[in-house]
Amino acid sequence: LSDRLTSALQTLSRKGRLSDADIDATAREIRIALLEADVALSVVKDFIARIKERAKGAEVHGALNPAQQVIKIVNEELVTILGGETRRLTFAKNPPTVIMLAGLQGAGKTTLAGKLALWLKKQGHAPLLVACDLQRPNAVTQLQVVGERAGVTTFAPEPGNGVGDPVDVARRAIDEAKRAQHDIVLVDTAGRLGVDEELMKQAADIRDAVTPDETLFVVDAMIGQDAVTTAEAFRDGVGFTGVVLTKLDGDARGGAALSVRQVTGQPILFASNGEKLEDFDLFHPDRMASRILGMGDVLSLIEQAEQHFDQEKAEQTAAKLGSGQLTLEDFLEQMLAVRKMGPIGNLLGMLPGAGQMKDQLAQVDDKHLDKLQAIIRGMTPAERDDPKMINASRRLRIAKGSGVAVRDVNDLVNRFFEARKMMAQMAGRFGFGGGGGGSK
Ligand code: GDP
Ligand code: MG
Repeated sequence: LSDRLTSALQTLSRKGRLSDADIDATAREIRIALLEADVALSVVKDFIARIKERAKGAEVHGALNPAQQVIKIVNEELVTILGGETRRLTFAKNPPTVIMLAGLQGAGKTTLAGKLALWLKKQGHAPLLVACDLQRPNAVTQLQVVGERAGVTTFAPEPGNGVGDPVDVARRAIDEAKRAQHDIVLVDTAGRLGVDEELMKQAADIRDAVTPDETLFVVDAMIGQDAVTTAEAFRDGVGFTGVVLTKLDGDARGGAALSVRQVTGQPILFASNGEKLEDFDLFHPDRMASRILGMGDVLSLIEQAEQHFDQEKAEQTAAKLGSGQLTLEDFLEQMLAVRKMGPIGNLLGMLPGAGQMKDQLAQVDDKHLDKLQAIIRGMTPAERDDPKMINASRRLRIAKGSGVAVRDVNDLVNRFFEARKMMAQMAGRFGFGGGGGGSK
């Protein structure tokens, strides 16, 4: 008896909504995972609050335990925040499109300039690299080297003229791009080791001179907790329209991605993951989410469990169909599933062998479905399970309870038996289902 009681209780706990205790217990783990991934504390707090809110309303999924369920929600929420679908670069209506790179020294701007140039060139563009980092003596040479590797032209101040003015270089580069028909201009700028006013002013001056279509904030994924302050400084000092995360080939878990995204609201467009020009890709929110969570194994387990569960359910229904053991509960479930797919009429024509059922099915519009649903909901579980037991007095009770005429209940029950018979025949013909089990 105690065994049976335990399993009954387990079934109970797997129904309905996630409990606060379930959510709190898992939220603690998530919090630690995010902090370990170097997500900024303020961002973690907001995020956890949001997750708790969302998890409270969530129904328990039959295939997952509550902890897995919460992790699934966390993962979905992470993917959403990190950008859902990846945004593409915005190109100017009148070329050249100007893309300016901004970020701290060592973030990976110059390397990224080469990577982007190669990537764009492969897509048929003709980018021009512009050296506006005149701060360090070898910065121009470094850009020229990556430009050569990418096979694109680099625009730089003539040597021997002393330290050039980056704003002047930027302006002249735009003219040169128009003259030589480059459709994209990639402006590399100087960075400092820390945020400082002079740096921001220079970047803002270059911005004003070239009015970029995109300003990309380049940020080292290893920067960790500092990501928020740095991103805020660049947001306020220069402004940016997109983010590029670099050095993802390192072992940083990439919490900076969540911090920057959450704090600035700007999308992450690209991910850089190595020193070679090819080590570069569009940003994939789903991959980043699982990296930040650091629960790749758990996530794939969850996915497997869900797939297995859905498949099992589908197989069960198919087996029931074939053996003529379909219950009214299944019937309702099927109808609701079909309804979710859209206007029912379009679908019916596509069913194999639906010809003979057409007239019957033609009446199944949405209003009719509502009525059927009300009637079936008005039945006891035993009645749904074994519709043969629905006698005259039960029909009267169901009709009263669901606010329809007895005739409607009769109609439904009769139709159900017809449909069940027909489906069993069809199942035999199309070779699915449990084959041959006797009908009730
Ligand atoms: P900048 O100061 O912002 O222009 O940064 P650089 O492009 O000069 O890059 C600084 C250093 O980081 C260089 O040694 C690059 O080779 C290296 N680097 C840039 N991007 C990546 C990356 O995605 N992965 C790795 N491992 N190194 C990178
Ligand atoms: Mg540089």
